[in-house]
Amino acid sequence: MRQQRLLIPTLRDVPGDAEVASHKLMLRAGLIRQLSSGIYTYLPLGLKALQHIQTIVREEMDAAGAQEMLMPALHPSELWKASGRWDVYGPELMRLEDRHGREFALGATHEEVITTIVKDEIQSYKKLPVTLYQIQTKYRDERRPRFGLLRGREFLMKDAYSFDRSQSGLDESYESMYKAYHRIFTRCGLNFRAVEADSGAIGGTDTHEFMALADIGEDTIVHCPSCQYAANLEKAVGQLPAFTDTASKRSDLPNEPQKVHTPQVTSIKQLSEFLQVSPKQIIKSIAIEANGEPVIVLLRGDCEVNEIKLKNALNGTEFTMLSEAGIQQIGSKAGFIGPIGLQNAKIIADSSVIGMQDAVIGANEADYHLTHVQVERDLAGLAYYDLRNVTEGEHCLTCGHELSFAKGIEVGHVFKLGTKYSRSLGASFSDENGASEPIIMGCYGIGVSRVLAAIIEQNHDERGIIWPASVAPFAVHLLTVHVQDEIQMKLSTEIYKSLTDAGYSVLWDDREDRPGVKFNDADLIGFPLRITVGKKAAEHIVECKERRSGDQYELTAEQIIAHCQTFFQTGGRSSHE
Ligand code: ATP
Ligand code: MG
Repeated sequence: MRQQRLLIPTLRDVPGDAEVASHKLMLRAGLIRQLSSGIYTYLPLGLKALQHIQTIVREEMDAAGAQEMLMPALHPSELWKASGRWDVYGPELMRLEDRHGREFALGATHEEVITTIVKDEIQSYKKLPVTLYQIQTKYRDERRPRFGLLRGREFLMKDAYSFDRSQSGLDESYESMYKAYHRIFTRCGLNFRAVEADSGAIGGTDTHEFMALADIGEDTIVHCPSCQYAANLEKAVGQLPAFTDTASKRSDLPNEPQKVHTPQVTSIKQLSEFLQVSPKQIIKSIAIEANGEPVIVLLRGDCEVNEIKLKNALNGTEFTMLSEAGIQQIGSKAGFIGPIGLQNAKIIADSSVIGMQDAVIGANEADYHLTHVQVERDLAGLAYYDLRNVTEGEHCLTCGHELSFAKGIEVGHVFKLGTKYSRSLGASFSDENGASEPIIMGCYGIGVSRVLAAIIEQNHDERGIIWPASVAPFAVHLLTVHVQDEIQMKLSTEIYKSLTDAGYSVLWDDREDRPGVKFNDADLIGFPLRITVGKKAAEHIVECKERRSGDQYELTAEQIIAHCQTFFQTGGRSSHE
């Protein structure tokens, strides 16, 4: 393709709202343009890269036995009402009415539609298992669309759904998708990790998220450098090193908690300073209300509650903070709540509280706390759960090594759905004996457009994008320094032909611009290999530059094809020997 006529509107400066590298570079390199918040046009180069990612996704989905189809983006509201999600999905679901006043949603995900199709078309066990997928535009009215393609309101997703007759069948389908995802993200050149994620309190069992590691990622990953353990922060568990010795009983402490005057000392920080104790010696009491009942949540003073874990511990019940009046009703006072002497409040504790000695708690009386609390002695019979965010310094429960933290971009998600949708929408099959059973489902998403941005986030330098060869819009950038020079043009024409004949995609910079402009653009749009035809064209010598390594060397025109073969065989990462 000749660059002259290709629409690649590169920019020197980018709008101030582009905060992250991938967003800036996609604008600067002329890959995308914003139409409205979170809504983008893919220009020719952007679309090519996106199509290459789609090809990888298709090849691996097909290889895993999944079948491609394409479902509508417009969904009648009845479907979402039947599944119960018309109400619970909230404002993220884009809703509209047709001319007759019928309500529709723009598809945010397709469980409802696919389950309806399967319900109508599959009745017998003989047609199971089956995995169906599509690559299609999704709509979500995100509260904060940002970072360009990373969080859009209109974005491209690959969504797959598996249908099985048994749990073990689902396990196999899941495993097959899980492996396909590994191949897909590896081929896309991403540095990623599959992490355990939360599946909600009821229903789902296994779920993994695929995280592209990046400092700007919105998710926190906890992983063990020594074993395979890796989980999303909302799910991660660890062993908190005890602050004081929890094994042997201390004999130097008073026989019962001591009440101390702590005027207007209500926060952990204030209390720690006032009493000169570490926050690790304080037990935090958080008062919430779940199902209309007051609940006190205990955890060590330096720990933070993980709301998802807490919700799971409450059997999936939503909760709110307990009001001042509610706190009074249980016989306490805001800022001085503690687990001893409460009336009619359920108490649950995080495992960080286990065995704490010489602890400080609220006295349920304004301006007082209790010190020298022995958890085993004074708070016997507590119900313990894992309710906290894992913190730096915690150890792996599997192997004991200290856990590490990283930031990630969620590029894919695999989830065992079970029968949630097949039950609500009535998708069942009859088994060998004619008995009817709900079909067991899994769902598997990849944010195809988000992958594009994640690739750039991980592959760039100050000069521009560094495409992995597998997704680069073009493999080779052929650059003619002076297009008025007949010898340079003749040699360029020959090279262009031989490369395209050999099957390489080539963008030929045949523009009349200054060489400096062309070189800068070439670095910005970042194809793996640049071949420059310049001064030495008469001797059939060209300059070759590898975008990733920066290596630069001369080749004769006749060596180019063989060189490309070696270079691209190794994924475009080899350097010239
Ligand atoms: P997130 O936590 O980032 O909002 P999600 O849990 O809502 O993601 P899923 O519903 O599992 O995402 O969607 C499947 C995949 O679609 C995600 O793994 C992600 O890669 C992609 N995705 C989700 N929301 C967006 C978005 N607003 N823009 C681009 N890609 C998205
Ligand atoms: Mg989301």
